Amino acid sequence: TMNKNKSTIAFDKSADGLVPVVIQDVHSDKVLMLGFMNEEAYEKTLQEGTVTFYSRSKQRLWTKGETSGNFLLVKEVLIDCDQDTVLIKAAPAGPTCHTGADTCFGEVIEKNSSRGEAAFLNYLQKAVIRDRKLNPSESSYTTSLFNLGINKIAQKVGEEAVEVVIEAKDDNDDLFKGEVSDLLFHLLVLLEQKNIDLDDVISVLRSRHA
Ligand code: AMP
Ligand code: ZN
Ligand code: ZN
Ligand code: ZN
Repeated sequence: TMNKNKSTIAFDKSADGLVPVVIQDVHSDKVLMLGFMNEEAYEKTLQEGTVTFYSRSKQRLWTKGETSGNFLLVKEVLIDCDQDTVLIKAAPAGPTCHTGADTCFGEVIEKNSSRGEAAFLNYLQKAVIRDRKLNPSESSYTTSLFNLGINKIAQKVGEEAVEVVIEAKDDNDDLFKGEVSDLLFHLLVLLEQKNIDLDDVISVLRSRHA
């Protein structure tokens, strides 16, 4: 029932004849596990419609689920741009990981949370502030800023900057963070008024960085 030509996969690229195969849940899109296949494992996988790897630790063909019953039913096979890595979208018959978890990738060992939080500024400008400019709404404070025009918006940025200076001298971190937030927000409105993306400013910063 499956008609993929095995010759399109570069099994000969590595000395051991193994190609990495990423297994993705066809319904949830979760990455379930990664295994390796040689040509024989790949043929068996296509013939049976169930994922069979070549296990490097067992040194033999290993059908995922052979003892647990948690087979991976093949739905679609994709190949990457240089034909050396395979992606299989599969329907898991049960938990894929031998720990009982649905995916083998359940443990976060590194996370760049500061990057994630700063990205919200980009969302704020491109999605929220831009929307208030393109689709004026009477009840929106942001729309009212655009209606006042560039001089008033720039003046507002100056006022908020002064408030940041004032709060910097106090040691109330919450008030200080609030004023910095006000400053950043009005700065984004000023950028939007001038049709300049925050990205363009970040690029300037980056270009100064040796
Ligand atoms: P199974 O293929 O699910 O019947 O499991 C048989 C054996 O394969 C287990 O006892 C584990 O040693 C190993 N195993 C099962 N699932 C995984 C997995 N997702 N990743 C690595 N090893 C696995
Ligand atoms: Zn590519
Ligand atoms: Zn590749
Ligand atoms: Zn696992």
